[in-house]
Amino acid sequence: MEKDKKYRLKYDIHTHTIFSHGKGTIEDNVKVAIDRGVDTIGISDHGPGHVSYGVKRKNIRVMREEIDRLKLIYPQIDILLGIEANIINSSGNLDITKEEAKLFDYVLAGYHYGVFGERPVKALFTHANNYIIYGAMKKTTKRQRRINTDITVKALYENDIKILTHPGDKGAFDIAEISKACEETNTLMEISTWHKCLTIEDIKIAAKYDVSFIISSDAHTPERVGDCLGGVERALKAGLDLNRIINLKVE
Ligand SMILES: [Zn+2]
Ligand SMILES: [Zn+2]
Repeated sequence: MEKDKKYRLKYDIHTHTIFSHGKGTIEDNVKVAIDRGVDTIGISDHGPGHVSYGVKRKNIRVMREEIDRLKLIYPQIDILLGIEANIINSSGNLDITKEEAKLFDYVLAGYHYGVFGERPVKALFTHANNYIIYGAMKKTTKRQRRINTDITVKALYENDIKILTHPGDKGAFDIAEISKACEETNTLMEISTWHKCLTIEDIKIAAKYDVSFIISSDAHTPERVGDCLGGVERALKAGLDLNRIINLKVE
């Protein structure tokens, strides 16, 4: 990383609040974003299908009203309401319907454990395989890699997803195949500074495709909003042209 350069995010649209399992309020995230010179902050709590920390459907309206209130108090920043939907093997391969997606300014999607959807037994096997065999034993099977990749690729084609969050996290995935799907669906690939994905190796693979990247803090505490350094570092180590990271400002 070049020491004489300053890196900042123009927008950070992957942040969490107390409406899922973040620690701060929407206003807390907004205040830190302003302090860090972020122009646009997005609140993207976890999709409603997650059994322990999914956003409650009844709170979507509450969140929207809160954002409308904050927009009047903090006109110097754009505040958006998004959602980090869960990729799961079910209709549309997400835990929100196309109708529900319209309630948000944008939809992010990523793979997480704890979502069971319409086929709970199948989901349980998928999560158990990823959690135990990949997560704890650092191994995988070709079959599980295929399943993980398929549900991700299908979710990308069947929905309007702005960012694929932390690709490659929590299981084995075919990053080349997923990158191709992101290219064809015009989906941004995330370099998360919370999760270590995309990894340096996976950035190298993804960079071979005509995709753009975005760095997100995925902040679960307000003080992490706008955090970008770990992402910049991985991108540089992977030899990525920083101009391909659409929300990065280098001064
Ligand atoms: Zn996530
Ligand atoms: Zn997240």
